[in-house]
Amino acid sequence: MTSPGINALKAALPAKAWTQDADMIAPHLVEWREKYFGTTPILLMPSSTADVATAVKICADHGLSIVPQGGNTGLVGGQTPQGEVLLSLKRMTKIREVNPVADAITVEAGATLQTVQDAATAANRKFPLTLSSEGSCTVGGVLSTNAGGNHVLKYGTTKDLVFGVEAVLADGQIFNGLTSLHKNNTGYDLSRLFLGAEGTLGIITAATLKLFAQPGHVTRVMMAVASVTDAVALLTQLRGPALAMFEVMPRIGFAAVTDNFETDRDPFTAVHPWYVLADFEVDNAEAGEALVMPLLEKAMASGLVRDAVLAQSDTQFRALGAIREHMSAGQKFLGGSIKQDITVPIDRIADFFTRANATVQRIVPGCRPVGFGHFGDGNIHYNIAQPASANLAANRDAFLAHWDDISEAIFDIVDSLGGSISAEHGIGIMKRETLAKRADPVKMALLRRVKAAMDPDGIMNPRVMV
Ligand SMILES: Cc1cc2nc3c(=O)[nH]c(=O)nc-3n(C[C@H](O)[C@H](O)[C@H](O)COP(=O)(O)OP(=O)(O)OC[C@H]3O[C@@H](n4cnc5c(N)ncnc54)[C@H](O)[C@@H]3O)c2cc1C
Repeated sequence: MTSPGINALKAALPAKAWTQDADMIAPHLVEWREKYFGTTPILLMPSSTADVATAVKICADHGLSIVPQGGNTGLVGGQTPQGEVLLSLKRMTKIREVNPVADAITVEAGATLQTVQDAATAANRKFPLTLSSEGSCTVGGVLSTNAGGNHVLKYGTTKDLVFGVEAVLADGQIFNGLTSLHKNNTGYDLSRLFLGAEGTLGIITAATLKLFAQPGHVTRVMMAVASVTDAVALLTQLRGPALAMFEVMPRIGFAAVTDNFETDRDPFTAVHPWYVLADFEVDNAEAGEALVMPLLEKAMASGLVRDAVLAQSDTQFRALGAIREHMSAGQKFLGGSIKQDITVPIDRIADFFTRANATVQRIVPGCRPVGFGHFGDGNIHYNIAQPASANLAANRDAFLAHWDDISEAIFDIVDSLGGSISAEHGIGIMKRETLAKRADPVKMALLRRVKAAMDPDGIMNPRVMV
């Protein structure tokens, strides 16, 4: 497909910065779960902020809409174009500066999260954001979705880890908010507007991120518990400055991983209803044992913990972590899955499960809730697998047809508990209508005013969020 705007992009950008080759574009048009499929007239792959600015200015002049894309691991469809120009940041991967004294790292938007973690480690610092998708997701993506992950209870979400951003605005101007200043009270914090904006206000091209001290050692323990109520009670017993991760998995999801992935073994001899994976950041292994063993003894004596495994080697540490990492992939073995990323106040997690489990059973009898995730910050990935059957494939579509009615019923519960319909994945196109329907009207009006002020022609990711 061609048009004056597309021709202008091809003429202005270096040859390597664009393609219309269908084979090269194809992987960018389908996302991880194969839920959203896209189309685009052209894939742009600029390698510099100046080239991004040139591309956006041409799009603005010709009324072409743009969808920015990072690692394409987003789970709400925001990175999948439906006829818009697709702008991938995948060639902008430079680490511009690591500054251990200022505790800051400046990186381009296309660098993967793993690259940032590795660069921080090489400087004996830590960048604490940790997601299962970290080998693929990018700085631009995690900032734009305000990603959460496993360490939020100690370090906060992505928003808490950013000093400032560089971004190309909807008219092609470059906003330079890069700074390592720990204090800077000079008006609205404009960089923060781009955090969680899902590409609707501009394109993040680089960011300065916060670094932290490397812990001397991480003590990892997996514990078996009887119920969600016990998992939450355990959280309150374990919580303290050292607790960096508290992840919970139900038996059905745990078994889907350990039964199907050859490398993942159930570390327990008995079957348990729920599993907790916790990390403690400490000075050394001895300090970790001194902290964790008395906590475990107390929890086991009171019956809160039924069994526990303390990682004794790097291999065991990784093996326990892999089970949690594979929770999403493992659910593919359970057939069709209706997925929710919600959050409720931590003291209401058990209440949520009681109500949600009963509700989904009423809608699809026999369906199998697989609620897992970051209970340490109240975030539940409340997925529902289709009922067990000899022929999952045959019944898959009929089950997935309940996506909307199940989602609405769950959101009603979430709203009544003071929770949020999106904990960490964002709104995208998946929850755009739900947000408009359920959000406070004053909030919705403000979101729309900000969007109109920063992108008056509505060219930046126009189908997403607002
Ligand atoms: C296996 C798996 C596990 C996951 N675990 C977690 C988890 O624990 N916590 C969590 O929060 N998320 C998780 N996710 C979701 C996903 O990894 C995050 O949303 C991630 O932040 C997306 O980054 P990305 O680079 O892939 O962005 P993309 O998917 O490419 O894009 C996501 C959104 O950001 C926009 N965007 C991308 N780059 C830019 C940019 N430079 N400027 C402006 N807008 C941009 C896109 O337009 C889109 O709206 C997981 C996903 C998978 C597949």
